[in-house]
Amino acid sequence: MSVLEVRDLTIRYPRRGEEPLTVVRKLNLRLEAGQLLGLVGESGSGKSQTALAILGLLDSDAIVEGQVIHDGRDLLKQPEPVLRGVRGNRVAMIFQDPMTSLNPHLTIGTQLAEVLRVHRGASSDAARAEAIRMLQAVRIPAASRRMGQYPHQLSGGMRQRVMIAMALMCRPQVLLADEPTTALDVTIQAQVLELLDELRREFGLSILMITHDLGVVAQICDRVMVMYAGSIMESGSTRQLLSAPGHPYTRGLLESLPDLDAPAEHTLRPIPGQPPNLAFLPGGCPFRPRCGFETDGCADYRAPDHGPGDDVRACLRSPEEVARNPVA
Ligand code: ADP
Ligand code: MG
Repeated sequence: MSVLEVRDLTIRYPRRGEEPLTVVRKLNLRLEAGQLLGLVGESGSGKSQTALAILGLLDSDAIVEGQVIHDGRDLLKQPEPVLRGVRGNRVAMIFQDPMTSLNPHLTIGTQLAEVLRVHRGASSDAARAEAIRMLQAVRIPAASRRMGQYPHQLSGGMRQRVMIAMALMCRPQVLLADEPTTALDVTIQAQVLELLDELRREFGLSILMITHDLGVVAQICDRVMVMYAGSIMESGSTRQLLSAPGHPYTRGLLESLPDLDAPAEHTLRPIPGQPPNLAFLPGGCPFRPRCGFETDGCADYRAPDHGPGDDVRACLRSPEEVARNPVA
C-alpha cells in the first residue's frame, strides 16, 4: 500500500530576463507503508526541495507542477489550512539543521509539549507526559530531567533524538527525514539510524530518508532513488543498486565511499568535477560532463518516462558496459 506518491514533480524558479531555473524535473516517487526509502545525491541535487514541496513549504515564487498524493488527495492543490492539518499530524519532517529548528531560549520539554498543545489542543499536563514518553521512545536517558534542559546542554546526537521525538509527537504516518545524521560522527550516526529503523516498526512509520551519503542508505534503506541535478538517475532495491549499480553516477557515489573492510591501500575515488550548477547544465544527460562513459547519443538523451513505483535507470549505456568499463 502506498502512503505517499509524487507524480511528475517539477520545481522551477523565475529568473530575471531568463527562462525559469529548473531545480527538480519530473520526479516520481512512491513510499510504501512501513518502507524506508532513500533519496540520495550530492548537495544541490534537489533533495530538500522535493521534501519541502511535499509539505507545501517552498518559497512562494516557486513554480510547482505535478501531484503529491496523500490520503487520496493532491497536497499541491490543498489550501493552507488543510496543509497545516497535514504537517506534523500526518506527514512530519525533520529539517536539515537541528540547531536552527530548536529554539535556543526554550527548554526541550517546553518545545516538545508545545507541539501537542498547538496541533492537538492538549492540556499542558497531558502534553508534558506525552513529551516524556516520546523522549523515552527515542531512548533518551533520564527523560524527565532532560525536559528542563536547553538545546545547547545536549550533545549533537541527543539533539537529533529530540528532533526525532518532536517530529513524532503527533504520531504521523510519514516522516520526511532530511539529512538527519549528517552533522554527527560515524558512531553516533549509526545509533540514530538504528533508532529510526526501530521507530518505524514501533510506530508503523514510513520514512523518506534524504542523504548525500550512500553509506547511510546502505545501512537502513529498503529502496533507493539516486538524484542528480534535479532528476532521478537510477532507482531500485538497495541491495540491487549497491551490488550492481547500473548508472555511472551511482557507481561514482559507491566508489567514493570509504570502505571500512577494505585494506589500507584501498584508495577512494571521488567523482571527478564539481556537483552540478543548475544554471549551466549541458543538454541531454546532466551527468555527462563528469561521466567517463559518455557516448554520441548522451547529448540528446532524456530519461525514459516512468511511474512512481518503477525502477529507473536513466543511462544510454547498458548495465554491463557500466559495470565493465573502468571509470575514466
Ligand atoms: P539538496 O537538498 O539536494 O542539497 P536543494 O533541494 O536544497 O538541494 O537545492 C536544489 C537546488 O535548488 C539548488 O541548486 C538550490 O540553489 C536551488 N534553490 C533552492 N531554493 C531556491 C530558490 N528559492 N530560488 C532559486 N533556487 C533555489
Ligand atoms: Mg538538502
